[in-house]
Amino acid sequence: MSLFIGEIEVPGQKNNVEKKKRLLKKKVVRYLYFHGPKSAIEISKKLKTSIPTITSTIAILCKNGILSEEGQGNSSGGRRPLLYGLCRNSLYILGIDIGRYTTKMAIYNSRMEALTGLQHYEIALVNDEKFLDHIQTYAQQLIIDSNIDKEKIIGIGIDMPGLVDSENGRNFTYFTQESGTLAQLLTRKFGLPVYIENDAKARALAEFRFGLAKGRKNVLVLHVGWGVGLGMILNGKLYRGHNGFAGEFSHIHFSENGLLCSCGKSGCLETEASGKALVRHAEESIAKGKNSNLAELLVGKSNENLHKIIIDAADSGDQLAISIISKVGLELGKGMSTLIQLFNPELIILGGRMADANRYLLTPIQQSLNHYCLRKIGEQTEIALSELGANANILGAVAMVVENTFEI
Ligand SMILES: [Zn+2]
Repeated sequence: MSLFIGEIEVPGQKNNVEKKKRLLKKKVVRYLYFHGPKSAIEISKKLKTSIPTITSTIAILCKNGILSEEGQGNSSGGRRPLLYGLCRNSLYILGIDIGRYTTKMAIYNSRMEALTGLQHYEIALVNDEKFLDHIQTYAQQLIIDSNIDKEKIIGIGIDMPGLVDSENGRNFTYFTQESGTLAQLLTRKFGLPVYIENDAKARALAEFRFGLAKGRKNVLVLHVGWGVGLGMILNGKLYRGHNGFAGEFSHIHFSENGLLCSCGKSGCLETEASGKALVRHAEESIAKGKNSNLAELLVGKSNENLHKIIIDAADSGDQLAISIISKVGLELGKGMSTLIQLFNPELIILGGRMADANRYLLTPIQQSLNHYCLRKIGEQTEIALSELGANANILGAVAMVVENTFEI
């Protein structure tokens, strides 16, 4: 048990009154983690608890070094109220974003500040426990480099590809365990609580807690990279489905093109509406001798850079680049119109490398939405580009640790 949780749990206190007090402490910490410093009145209103009860809970948390006074808020007539927030270094969370080719890590304090910045490790995801040993070694080194008290780390959040049952800590695609779960294996390895989540869902959670979906109730988050990831916030909660597998949008049957998909089936949405489709269109057009600078620009470049090269070419006016991005955008919009009609979201957030194509992608998407959506539904949905940047996944993984640790 981390020092932080120890302060909150206070072992041995098991009667109902103490349980209620403990739950209230968790609620206060969780609320302040996600919303920043607040006054006792604001906390009391939000948690629907009397001001005297909140005031005494705040006093205990301040005494234990978890909360501190953070200046004064705006007055609504009388004296300006004192604000309380989490002490900057009262707790830490390690976030790990496992990608197919790169793993990123960062340690965040209670103010969502990444202590050692976002670290990148060029390591391909392979289905072998040795991969996890490497990750553990990198993580241990990062903890040492950050100079923090390991006892204050409340947990590790990991997002990764695959079919993930987050609630039970299982990944059915990678590191499937004969006995126990992946989360249990990692918890043993790290000696800290570990929570795992699918990468698309972690991104949706990040948008919900820290990004454009904050305060919204029905938002879809699309990540368009090589494939298309979908995370859904429905009725103000991350929607996981029955087993945690909801949102496999990339692999719905979409076309009779007969093209083999990464999942082994053919004609999935990602064969037409993803970064992978964009690169295929570029290669096919070049092979047909279409007049474009792309033929020279793409020679010998690694997969990691292809989208950026094509998007940059579009920005400098290359007509082939513009037309193939548009082609992908039209297909993506077609897929999105299905999502809009099924879920009636107020907002769809687009992220991933393809989102860098901005207007070259958004215009054809809108064209498809106009074409395929019922007008009344389509015009209610706003489309926006994610503002969270490269650490979106990790922020989601970190939010997951907070949600699980301070479960209410
Ligand atoms: Zn597929």
